[in-house]
Amino acid sequence: MKHVNEKCAVCGGELVEKEVEKLLRGGNHMASLKVSAEVCLHCGERFYSPLTVEKFEKIENELESGDVDHFQAVGRAFQVAASF
Ligand SMILES: [Zn+2]
Repeated sequence: MKHVNEKCAVCGGELVEKEVEKLLRGGNHMASLKVSAEVCLHCGERFYSPLTVEKFEKIENELESGDVDHFQAVGRAFQVAASF
């Protein structure tokens, strides 16, 4: 964990740089990826660099268009009825 100079834009809390898992969705597909983010120790808000956000958008577009052949499948996603 690395401390960051900036403060949380939401609550002013202390930020640390951490590797986090981010879940992305596009169309019927989902992908998770590990990225580094600045995480607020106080409220838990995550802040991503503009480059990381760009990457999210690219991946979401690929998921949306079904262009997922180059992603590694790690399991199947299921939807469970709320009455379950
Ligand atoms: Zn905060």
